[in-house]
Parts: sequence; C-alpha cells; structure tokens
Amino acid sequence: MAATLGPESIARRGADVIVIGAGLHGCSVALNLARHGARVVVLEKDYSGRHASGVNAGGVRTLGRHPAEIPLALAARDLWHRIGDLVDDDCGFASVGQIQIAENDDEASQLRARVQTLAASGYDHERWLDAEELHARVPALVPWVSGALIAEADGVADPFCTVLAFRRKATALGARFVEGVAAHAAMPVAGQWQVSTSSGVFFAPRIVNCAGAWAGRFASQWGEPVPLSPIAPMMMVTLRMRRFLHPVILGTGRALSLKQRANGTVLIGGARRARLDHSRERISLCLPSLAASARMVCELFPFMRDAVVARAWAGIEARMPDDLPVIGRSSRHESAFHAFGFSAHGFELGPIVGRIIAELLTSGSTQLPISSFSISRFQKEKRT
Ligand SMILES: Cc1cc2nc3c(=O)[nH]c(=O)nc-3n(C[C@H](O)[C@H](O)[C@H](O)COP(=O)(O)OP(=O)(O)OC[C@H]3O[C@@H](n4cnc5c(N)ncnc54)[C@H](O)[C@@H]3O)c2cc1C
Repeated sequence: MAATLGPESIARRGADVIVIGAGLHGCSVALNLARHGARVVVLEKDYSGRHASGVNAGGVRTLGRHPAEIPLALAARDLWHRIGDLVDDDCGFASVGQIQIAENDDEASQLRARVQTLAASGYDHERWLDAEELHARVPALVPWVSGALIAEADGVADPFCTVLAFRRKATALGARFVEGVAAHAAMPVAGQWQVSTSSGVFFAPRIVNCAGAWAGRFASQWGEPVPLSPIAPMMMVTLRMRRFLHPVILGTGRALSLKQRANGTVLIGGARRARLDHSRERISLCLPSLAASARMVCELFPFMRDAVVARAWAGIEARMPDDLPVIGRSSRHESAFHAFGFSAHGFELGPIVGRIIAELLTSGSTQLPISSFSISRFQKEKRT
C-alpha cells in the first residue's frame, strides 16, 4: 500500500524547479535560479562534481571555439574574471592565457586564417604570436615551433573547488541538494513534473536536465531522443617540477593540452580517451595512448623528459555529433529545459549556462544567441 506523504515531506519533495544532475551546469542553474527566489531541488545520483565537472583539466578557454559558442564563451570568460562576486570563492581561477601552437606551415596558415575570420565577425580575443613573442612567453618550447594563437584573457581554474563553490553559494541562497539519489523517470502529470527516484517521488512545475553523459535518458523520456555518445577523456598529472610554463599550451594538428599548476605539477590532457563501459560506469585507461601523449609532450618540451607521472584518470562526459551542447527549452514540453552534451569543453561555459537557463525560466528569453544549441536540431519533427 502506498504511504501518504505528510505536509512536511510534501514540502521537502516539492519545489518550483527540479534540476537533475549536480555537475557544474546543474549547480550553476541552481545558483542562478535561487538568486531569482525560486525553490530549487537538485537531484544527484552520486555526489556533486563526481563526474566530468569535478575531474576535468580546469581549462577556461575561449580559444579555438566553434563560432556558435564564441558569444557564450566570451560572456562566461567575463564571469570567470570576477568569479568571486558570483560564488564568494576564487575557484582557483588564474588568467594565465591559452596558446595554440603551429607545428608546421599548414597549421600556421590555418591559425592565421582563423584570426582573419574572427576579425571579420568583430572578434579580437585571439591574436597571432610570431616566433619571437611565442618563445619569449614559452622559453621551454622547442625552437622549431614558429608561431601560435593566443587568447590572453583565458586561464585555468580548479574544477572540483569550482563545483563546490557553486554548490555552496546555491545552498546559501536556498537551493537544496539531494545527493546519492538517482532520478529514474521524469514525467509530466497534471501540470507537475513527477520525478521518481531511488528515494521516492519529487515534484515541481518545471524541470532542467543537467544529467551530463546520462542526459539522453531524460531527453528520450520527453520524446526527443538525441545521438549522445558517452566518452571518457583521459588526463595525467606529474609530480611537482621547477616552474617552466605559465600559459596553457594546446596543439593544432595533434591532441595536446598542457598546463603547469601553481603547485608545480603539470597536467597533460588532450582528446585521448579511455575505454568506457557506460552502463556500469567503469573506465579502463588506455596506457599506450597515454604513453604517446607523454612522448609528444617530451618532443615539444625536452625539459619534461625528467617528469614523473604521478596519476592518470578519466572522466565521463557527453559528446554530441556536432560537438556542440544542447542548451535551451525542450522541443516537446514548455516547462522542461536542457543543458548537456558539452563535448569535453563545457567547464568554461558553466557560469554562463546557469544564467541562460535561469533567464529562460524566469523571463522566457535570453539575450545570448542559443538557437544553434536547440535540441530540435536532432529531431525530424519540430514542436507543434
Ligand atoms: C578529463 C576531462 C577534461 C576536461 N577538460 C576540460 C577543460 O579543460 N575545459 C573545459 O571547458 N571543459 C573540459 N572538460 C569538459 C567538462 O568537464 C564538461 O563539459 C562539463 O563538466 C560538463 O558538466 P555537466 O554538469 O554537464 O556534467 P557532469 O559534470 O557529468 O554532471 C552531470 C551530473 O548528473 C548526474 N546524474 C546523471 N544522471 C542522473 C540521474 N539519473 N539522477 C541524478 N543525477 C544524475 C551525474 O552523476 C553527474 O554528477 C573536460 C572533461 C573531462 C572528462
């Protein structure tokens, strides 16, 4: 026999908005909605920041973004530069700049052409660095690298501290985080979203899907299946080394991302992936691929030959076929919203995506251009 909920448990299980997932995007949505006075419940099957948001490379990068993402990335970058005003914590953010190197003439032409294309659209956040300036900024780099793009206002932050800071601020503003509780099904019933979970039913008139690599389940339940692929990008970190690198270094033709943290350790990432058994959330690191990554780093930075890798890991992330996220209102339900599919570059966007979703919920629109991120791009039939 079903138990009847008393007034107290109804109040605890009811909200104005339910957010599924407490990665950076769920926490940012919760914070921004709570700032508007909404009663928000965030459901998280593990703990806040357990997946991609807490274990990523912490790159705050506008450099090399797809044109559709540039307005959001620049707006997010401005928030990162005053992140303390938003969450009362610096999130370990440092504006060290990001540099994308050209290893040959073809790559140099490609990067120079990008500066021109951006300029034609009115953007000047990326600029060409000639060899002299590049090597003055990155003296440890091998001399044959002859140029690069730089985004000076880009930087790095501490991913797990960032998630916790957003969660803490959202909680202080009244949002409630329910951790260790998995949402199973989220269906509209009589004007409310009823979310059945591993710990009973929660309900609210509006709902936001921030479930990362698991978001496809809810999109399907809402009648708008998406071709989301769960992926597991890998990272390595070295023991502390003498300071030799200030900006973040990215490759153009090769999968490279390299940064030295303030404590001297060096983070090595890129697009290399672990094997993932998504249904069991099991990851097996691909050691030959990590070794290839280490060899490439030593080739570009001979100083790194003495580096000792202390740890390697991977995080589970949602990738969309066009490498663009899904951000916006559901194509089927007026009262449902999505923010997922960040395709291994969503950390930087976290602060702005929360604001956008809160604007959509509270005023029905946002000033930022988000039509390229609509879920309907994957649907044959549009909303009626
Ligand atoms: C190794 C790695 C390096 C990266 N480096 C960078 C970088 O340098 N810069 C950058 O911008 N981006 C980077 N990214 C990408 C970035 O981390 C992600 O795009 C971003 O964190 C996605 O955030 P999210 O909130 O959408 O997802 P997540 O952080 O995955 O959060 C989703 C949450 O939803 C929860 N959830 C799922 N299903 C349910 C359910 N049924 N019930 C309750 N809870 C549920 C999950 O447990 C999870 O905590 C990297 C990613 C990885 C893996």
